[in-house]
Amino acid sequence: MLNLVLFGPPGAGKGTQSQKLIEKYQLVHLSTGDILRNEIANGTQLGIEAKKLMDQGLLVPDEVVIGMISNKLDANRDARGFIFDGFPRTVAQAEALDALLLSKDTSISVMIALNVDDQELEKRLLLRGKDSGRPDDANPEIIRKRIEEYNSKTAPVANFYKSQAKFVSINGIGSIDEIFTEITKVADTF
Ligand code: AMP
Repeated sequence: MLNLVLFGPPGAGKGTQSQKLIEKYQLVHLSTGDILRNEIANGTQLGIEAKKLMDQGLLVPDEVVIGMISNKLDANRDARGFIFDGFPRTVAQAEALDALLLSKDTSISVMIALNVDDQELEKRLLLRGKDSGRPDDANPEIIRKRIEEYNSKTAPVANFYKSQAKFVSINGIGSIDEIFTEITKVADTF
């Protein structure tokens, strides 16, 4: 199986690159942000609780997102592989993901990080907020909070994969196709 973790701060281009990767490699796309927004749209209890945190730019609890990923892995037993987008976002999530994959006799192939500086991120997110309709993209304060959450809780996840020699970093500034080519160079080695 090809199991990729696409890593990077909000606005790095993970969603855009995921769309291209699932087409090329026939992977199942698992975006915890998308799953949570779907719960919100359906008005579920989980969605209502998650929205309170998401609207403030804060992470939702580990057990909530781990449970969601576990369900999706179970629901896609015949998948050729997965692309994890926006998950794992904490070291606890990374540990749980390793355990879940191990129980299915598979593992993460590689984490691919998209490198983009904070100034460029803020610019991209505010631009995206104009048509994404996402409340957390519309407010500069919330955007900064999300980047802060990323720097304090999510950035350490890179070390988790580095210690397993499963970490590759790519320049996330450039055209969508240029960045995609760099990602495929890594993915094609598996
Ligand atoms: P995203 O679409 O990945 O930018 O996620 C949007 C928001 O959903 C984040 O700011 C968090 O509030 C929440 N979220 C998404 N994925 C996770 C995760 N793996 N762990 C905790 N919170 C998450």
